Amino acid sequence: MKTTGDPILSQTPHRRYNPLTRDWVLVSPHRAKRPWQGKIETIPSERVPAYDPDCYLCPGNARAEGVRNPNYTGTFVFDNDFPALLPDAPQESVDESGLIVARTEAGRCRVVCFTPRHDLTIPRMSVQEIRAVVETWTEQYAELGGLPFVRHVQIFENRGALMGASNPHPHCQIWAEAELPNVPALEQRSLLEYRERHGSCLLCRYLEIELERQERIVCANDAFVALVPFWAVWPFETMILAKRHLTAIDELTTAERAALADILKRTTARYDRLFQVPFPYTGGPHQRPTDGAPHPEWHMHWHFYPPLLRSATVRKFMTGYELLGTPQRDLTAETAAERLRAV
Ligand SMILES: [Zn+2]
Ligand SMILES: [Zn+2]
Ligand SMILES: [Zn+2]
Repeated sequence: MKTTGDPILSQTPHRRYNPLTRDWVLVSPHRAKRPWQGKIETIPSERVPAYDPDCYLCPGNARAEGVRNPNYTGTFVFDNDFPALLPDAPQESVDESGLIVARTEAGRCRVVCFTPRHDLTIPRMSVQEIRAVVETWTEQYAELGGLPFVRHVQIFENRGALMGASNPHPHCQIWAEAELPNVPALEQRSLLEYRERHGSCLLCRYLEIELERQERIVCANDAFVALVPFWAVWPFETMILAKRHLTAIDELTTAERAALADILKRTTARYDRLFQVPFPYTGGPHQRPTDGAPHPEWHMHWHFYPPLLRSATVRKFMTGYELLGTPQRDLTAETAAERLRAV
């Protein structure tokens, strides 16, 4: 199969392979033939105040258990009041015939408020303000990753009620734990095997191909590229790749931290412009585990998984064939990239 401009990829039903997760996605471009009319169904935008006395993340407000937030002026980090993981879980396991298998898991969950302003979002924050968030992530990655039992630190943002975010205040969560979660574990295996087989980095090579072809690139700056991955499952899924081979956020130079802030702002601003609505998504980085090994196979990248399909009100659900078989999409990654580039 040839790649770029090949009518197979733009006209014929086909499966695309994700070399990171070793999954396939079924693409049915013939079903997306109807012309894109750029129809916008805006949903009435709720007026969000800069400060909400009922928000448990706003400065000075009370959280669960009566803890009060300080009057913070920049980013603000605290231990999640209802953590999914506990640092002092005793080490125990269950194994019945290899079929009923469980292990206790120790971890720590934190919340990072990006700004005291209740009404801001990443695309509406200044690059300077987002850079402060990047710096906080870097500190947290080092601090949590430095805990003796922590082997992996996952930073993630759920934005919008559609993605289950319980509060519009701009914030993310960080879950640090003893074991590698499923997706990073799978990606690590793929990155490692590629490196062993080819002596080079899977994502460095992938980025080279994408930069040659240009058709799935959304935007770029000196240090990062945002693109719709060839194997994207979600309609407007994107991936942000560091141009330089670096394994984690702690290897960024000062200039690269600013560049990361810049590309996060530009990518999410395109999302908001696409359907003229604050675009819901789950986003976060994948990077080197914190088990103390150098992990040269890791190449830091960001994933954005937004659920919106054709407008502010039509979302993609994984149902039917997708739950029982394989994820499927009509809109090709190339067309999605073109639309994100155009806004
Ligand atoms: Zn708030
Ligand atoms: Zn690389
Ligand atoms: Zn990844």
